Amino acid sequence: MPQTAARILHDVFGYPEFRGSQAEIVDRLAAGGSLLVLMPTGGGKSLCYQIPALMREGVAVVVSPLIALMNDQVANLHTAGVAAAGIHSGTSPDEARRIAEDIESGCLKLLYVAPERLVTERFLRFLDQHTVSLFAIDEAHCVSQWGHDFRPEYRRLGILAERYPHVPRIALTATADAATRADIKHYLHLGDAPEFIAGFDRSNIYYQVIEKNNGKKQLLDFITRQMAGQSGIVYCLSRKKVEDTAAFLRGNGHDAVVYHAGLSMEAREAARLRFTREDNIIVVATVAFGMGIDKPDVRFVAHLDMPQSIEHFYQESGRAGRDGLPAVSWLCYGLNDWVVLRERIQSGESSQEQKQVELQKLDAMLAVCETAACRRVLLLQHFGEAGRPCGHCDNCLHPPVRFNGTVHAQKLLSCVYRVGQQFAAGYVINVLRGKNDAWIAGNRHHELSTFGIGADFSEKEWRGIIRQCIGLGYLTVNPLHHQALVLTAAAKAVLKGSEEVWLRPLKREKAALQKPKETWLRTEREERIWQALRSWRLARARAEEVPAYMVFGDKTLRDIVEKLPATLNDLHGIYGMGEAKIDKFGSGIIEICQTFVQNDNQAV
Ligand code: ADP
Ligand code: ZN
Repeated sequence: MPQTAARILHDVFGYPEFRGSQAEIVDRLAAGGSLLVLMPTGGGKSLCYQIPALMREGVAVVVSPLIALMNDQVANLHTAGVAAAGIHSGTSPDEARRIAEDIESGCLKLLYVAPERLVTERFLRFLDQHTVSLFAIDEAHCVSQWGHDFRPEYRRLGILAERYPHVPRIALTATADAATRADIKHYLHLGDAPEFIAGFDRSNIYYQVIEKNNGKKQLLDFITRQMAGQSGIVYCLSRKKVEDTAAFLRGNGHDAVVYHAGLSMEAREAARLRFTREDNIIVVATVAFGMGIDKPDVRFVAHLDMPQSIEHFYQESGRAGRDGLPAVSWLCYGLNDWVVLRERIQSGESSQEQKQVELQKLDAMLAVCETAACRRVLLLQHFGEAGRPCGHCDNCLHPPVRFNGTVHAQKLLSCVYRVGQQFAAGYVINVLRGKNDAWIAGNRHHELSTFGIGADFSEKEWRGIIRQCIGLGYLTVNPLHHQALVLTAAAKAVLKGSEEVWLRPLKREKAALQKPKETWLRTEREERIWQALRSWRLARARAEEVPAYMVFGDKTLRDIVEKLPATLNDLHGIYGMGEAKIDKFGSGIIEICQTFVQNDNQAV
């Protein structure tokens, strides 16, 4: 008798219920319908096709762009006791033969394969002779040039629709915009397939943005105070900064590895493996690190430099908290980041038109950094979603009290005007603060009416005002002229006095601290059990050569601590415990729990 989706969810994966639209997606696919699924990272896309694969006859073919992704998924399915395999350039002929036999005999339920292999005539002919239960096309945005990971071979997957008209297809992605979606439908021939679009809010992520003054030190404070012993990713703009930052963290007692495109393949793979397998490693990386990282228990993503667009920020910070447990996105930015990124865009290879788009995206990102309102509302707005203040970001929890900074802005804007819009921020600040240097004297700028009118503010405070004026759209810079500050059309109203400017406080705001992470631990005893379970998990993971989270996620460990199961039967009610895991790990867990119960009994 075919099993129901809900039973499989519980018995195989150990989860009590479907999330969001998962149930409907699973039903439709299991019934043979094709569809397009758009869900944010961590939304639970994989189960959408894995469960139908277990319900339908034959083997499900999953298209995946990266070997690392395939291996992860296959290993994960194995720990749940599901017969799955991946076939790629690293597969030996022997393994390939075994896989073919398993398909032959009907026991293999999921086969992961790269797109270029799938569309070869040889592979298709092999499939022709077997029952395919469904096709799942993961990371489907790779089909589109508008996405960030264009892979031409994805376009050839349209052939599946013609060759296997009766096999249902599901395309999945976390990338949203309408142009990409249209491309997916077009190239994958999903013309009239229904779309399932989940919201983009990542409610378990806490957003915290701070102004940079000594980035490395600020990062260390953040990690030490809020994230000690947790997995996290730290993004930096340059390779050199990646190396420096990792060395700095290590020097301060944190286990940090580096990852950037300048390292050898082996070094990168070693870093990736340590990060995924252990549960307390920090990876310091350039944006080269990301795709193919499916680790669910990343507790924080820190940006030591400003990301180049909201899309990048959303994707990168979204790698935190895929397991749904509390996670933090921490961003430290300064005016200089914005200038460096502008220069990068300007000197890049793109067309003039493309550059204009990129510069606008950068400014939208700056606005998220500078806003005094809810960060989440701005992020979601960017993806076309309306939202209400979330109560779970730094600005919501500690609303900055803005002040009327019209006069400050006027001083600044008029000084920019008086120096002929020919000088960068540092110079303008020196004029405002009345600094008597040879350069200023040589330009006779000490004779300007704005010379010295800003002496009551520090250089840092003026930088803050400049950034805010850029964020508010009164100022921009001229990339063709040494990043000179120039006025925008909107500046006129401020200079004329017909528009007020409200600024965030200039003194450093107390960084809004999040509660320490493990606040759910109620007693010291629970804390000891939690630690015992974590060490046991790491040891088992090492023995099995799988990531710690594949043995059990944090949420499962937490459920164990709270319920303290006494028998194997009690384990059926624990989150994330499927039959295969109970068989394999159940007695080990009961043993740990029992030691604590016994010790306590002896104590009384
Ligand atoms: P993504 O959408 O990013 O591919 P995954 O499929 O990797 O997300 O799922 C993210 C995490 O959520 C995984 O650890 C997965 O096991 C878990 N998950 C998915 N669906 C459910 C569910 N219905 N209940 C509990 N956990 C789930
Ligand atoms: Zn908020």
